[in-house]
Amino acid sequence: MTYKTLDDMDLAGKTVLVRVDINVPVEDGQVTDDTRVRRILPTLDAIFDKGGKPVLLAHFGRPKGQRVAEMSLSVVSGTLETLSGHPVRFAADCIGEAASTAIAAQEVGDIVLLENTRFHAGEEANDPDFAGELAALGDIYVNDAFSAAHRAHASTEGIARLLPSAAGRNMAAELKALEGALSKPERPVVAVVGGAKVSTKLDLIGNLLEKVDAVVIGGGMANTFLAAEGKAVGKSLCEHDMLDTARDVAARAKQVGCELILPVDVVVAEGFAANSPNRTVAADSCPDDMMILDAGEQTVALIAKHLESAKTVVWNGPLGAFEIEPFDRATVAAAKKAAELTQAGALLSVAGGGDTVAALNAAGVAGQFSYVSTAGGAFLEWMEGKTLPGVAALS
Ligand code: AMP
Repeated sequence: MTYKTLDDMDLAGKTVLVRVDINVPVEDGQVTDDTRVRRILPTLDAIFDKGGKPVLLAHFGRPKGQRVAEMSLSVVSGTLETLSGHPVRFAADCIGEAASTAIAAQEVGDIVLLENTRFHAGEEANDPDFAGELAALGDIYVNDAFSAAHRAHASTEGIARLLPSAAGRNMAAELKALEGALSKPERPVVAVVGGAKVSTKLDLIGNLLEKVDAVVIGGGMANTFLAAEGKAVGKSLCEHDMLDTARDVAARAKQVGCELILPVDVVVAEGFAANSPNRTVAADSCPDDMMILDAGEQTVALIAKHLESAKTVVWNGPLGAFEIEPFDRATVAAAKKAAELTQAGALLSVAGGGDTVAALNAAGVAGQFSYVSTAGGAFLEWMEGKTLPGVAALS
């Protein structure tokens, strides 16, 4: 896919409308985690370096087309000013006079932050008139919000059709990592797919089977695959109505030559609770009154072997109930192995979606993967092979 980046754009003297993701957590009027604000700084620096004037477009929470005082982006102004070292002019609306007045007063070196785009129903409806009002405020559009790119909204999609457009630094880095992992990866490619349920990850597994050399199935959803093979799963989390689907997936994998790797041993516990009495058994031997909460050591060794012979790994979802000890062991051990191989230059590792970032953070290895996407829904849709409207509109 081809798209322009900031390097391709002449920004001198231009008003640059930048779609960012600064949907930060706030408690009692204070930003409690400024990671997302920090992440937009490279794009702002690049725009300033090229002589452009950045005007930020963003959503905050889910006000559903209404003006909701607690969802005003004004709460982020101070953090943005401190972290960027540039004055921030906040405009109390993202269109109309409030916006145009703030932009008219913007001096070189200032950042204009426009109010929550979702205060207008036209944002989520991708209303062309609303997109037109946004576009009228600037000369160039830059999308730096990969995490919002799976939504065809006015500030992520409609506007890109109306102005010369480019990907910001985060968006470009995210796309490069994702393309390196699945579109044109170095083979063999192993996918690790864990998490609670098969039903929520069918599209994901279906797409991966066609693209990768092996898929490791872990977490609660592996139980459904084990049950589909006629193995006892006791009182484990298992979608008994999905057994045929799991068999279809296994058949499809065989057909396309993708190896499906299921647990060979599992950690079974009496209940879903930290330090619940537990032991490791063969994958077909879960007692009736116990539940599978993690993969066993032999399974981890098997996964490690696959990672050692792989050149690329894409990872989504934990291998067990990683939030409760000691059922985080397989996730931690496999993540450490992937991190070690990455650091040795032997593996390109890309992870993201849902609980994956939390699991890798808990394992203390998020910083040692090649790329960890914090994009959640957009990352998953991309892994499912779907076209992301916000990305497509840039090309
Ligand atoms: P997901 O959001 O689909 O990626 O699923 C993540 C959730 O799956 C986490 O909350 C894990 O605790 C849960 N999970 C993983 N393995 C198991 C398991 N064997 N039994 C129950 N829950 C699990």
